[in-house]
Amino acid sequence: MTTLIEEVADLLSRSSKTIALTGAGISVESGIPPFRGKGGVWEKIDPMKFAHIDAFTKDPVSVWNVLIKGMKDLLDKARPNDGHKGLARLEELGILTSIITQNVDGLHQVAGNTDVIEFHGSFIRHFCSECNRIYATTDIKMTQIPPRCDCNGILRPDIVFFGEMIPPAALMRSQQLAETCDVMLVVGTSAFVQPAAYIPVIAKQNGAVIVEINPESTPLTNQVTDLALMGNAGETMNRVLGEIEKRIS
Ligand code: NAD
Ligand code: ZN
Repeated sequence: MTTLIEEVADLLSRSSKTIALTGAGISVESGIPPFRGKGGVWEKIDPMKFAHIDAFTKDPVSVWNVLIKGMKDLLDKARPNDGHKGLARLEELGILTSIITQNVDGLHQVAGNTDVIEFHGSFIRHFCSECNRIYATTDIKMTQIPPRCDCNGILRPDIVFFGEMIPPAALMRSQQLAETCDVMLVVGTSAFVQPAAYIPVIAKQNGAVIVEINPESTPLTNQVTDLALMGNAGETMNRVLGEIEKRIS
């Protein structure tokens, strides 16, 4: 009997236009907690207080102290795990063309993927809220909170806070990719945050097969997903890749 893993491996081996949509879950094994679910950041802090643009505008010191400083410490140390590496290998094999990620940790690029759409921006860069000058996060000195630009403007990460728009170019490209891919791999997203959660729906409406990798079910699982691999991203990607490598060797 063919297992679900073998079925996904067959599907991917035949595909030359797979797209991945990733969320915080793919980086959990790199030591970065997700927002929702077990151990999620929202169990400790209120998103509307600390991850909303209005909160940042009103009280940047608190948002820096509670959210941004902690993120910087975590992301400075994080390295790609087998989930990220598996997606990089799928690109090397000519199966996966692009990743649409909701993550801001930059780990897909470190793993080696070359076409990564940062749907919610990136923590790799900050910019000045007055003059828009861009700073590499590694160059920011944490001696004063909030850190400031040479023009004295307050620096902020180049991420999309709640209440802000998705970068239009990222939105447009994601939509195009969803319309034209033959397989969409949805890895580690709770599919609660819109419009990202709608991307697999667009892919499905345009005939793509939807494969979900997540230890828990999501609003997509029963509605949109064709093949649900219920497990952690790293181990599941390793098993799928093991099967694909068998088929090509
Ligand atoms: P989420 O926090 O809402 O959901 C995480 C999902 O990952 C859950 O469905 C959970 O079951 C699943 N998960 C947990 N461990 C997993 C594992 N080992 N392997 C696979 N899946 C696992 O995440 P979201 O849907 O991405 O939405 C939250 C928003 O938070 C996003 O916009 C994202 O930008 C932001 N965020 C980013 C990071 C990051 O950059 N690493 C971290 C936290 C939050
Ligand atoms: Zn400035």
